[in-house]
Amino acid sequence: MKRKWFILALGILLLLSLSCASGHKESLPETLPLVRDVSAVQSRLATAVSSCDSLSMKTIGQVSYGTYQAPVWVVSFSPAVIKRKALLSGGIHGNEPAGVEVMVQMVEMLAKNPHEYGSIAFDIIPIVNPWGWSHDVRFNQEGRDVNRDFATFKCQESAIIRDFASGKRYDLIIDDHEDPNAKGFYMYQYANPDTWLSRKLINTVRGLGYPIEQDVNMIILKTDDGLVNAPLWGLWYMKLTGQLSITNYFRLNNSSKVYTIETPTKLDWEDRLKVHMIALEILLDSLQTTTR
Ligand SMILES: [Zn+2]
Repeated sequence: MKRKWFILALGILLLLSLSCASGHKESLPETLPLVRDVSAVQSRLATAVSSCDSLSMKTIGQVSYGTYQAPVWVVSFSPAVIKRKALLSGGIHGNEPAGVEVMVQMVEMLAKNPHEYGSIAFDIIPIVNPWGWSHDVRFNQEGRDVNRDFATFKCQESAIIRDFASGKRYDLIIDDHEDPNAKGFYMYQYANPDTWLSRKLINTVRGLGYPIEQDVNMIILKTDDGLVNAPLWGLWYMKLTGQLSITNYFRLNNSSKVYTIETPTKLDWEDRLKVHMIALEILLDSLQTTTR
């Protein structure tokens, strides 16, 4: 009986959302100014990778829009003994730059302190949407939100990530975002009823004096004191309505522990980086202490 009501509710939600599901806008003008330089990130990553035997970097795809060409890289960290695997990503929304900077700083930190995270292996994708990041735009050049494209894969960027992640499993996946409208820090977890780790992270951020978001509505979900706890049915709803995000996709295909971290762009740059770094540390520390 309960199941019948659930299917009925899902059907109504599906009908209500179909008219606005795509989120596709017009292509963005090629004349848009470049505000950030992909080659500057490339040279920082290459410097870090060349200084540490456990780090390697490879191009997993090429984003191409007319004269604009940019690679999508993964930087991998492989310790001598691997007990856990983590995937970290940033820059799927081009106007949320703290995530990209934190990914680069993470690679630089691993180059300097390769024993910091013991036996955790990393795959780090610093810029999922290089065109958006270069132009400080949320979307890709076609005006598509790459982070709503993991059901249909109309974007070059989402197809690159899908092909890279195909068949891979991770113990933890973190995708870093920012929010220009939020008043405080918040995060998502997916199809994971256990909220202690997210609560620990939110309380740590609060304890450092940063605001916690109380009022973000995300399509069908809402923050509860900084946490959006997306149920499994929510992921299927996003898939059915063609809005699946990168973390939704990862949760369904690549890992049982997936988190999205969001800092408000109202905070100072250094504070946003600090909060993202704290989030990475707390989530990664939990991976070191948990047993399989
Ligand atoms: Zn975002």
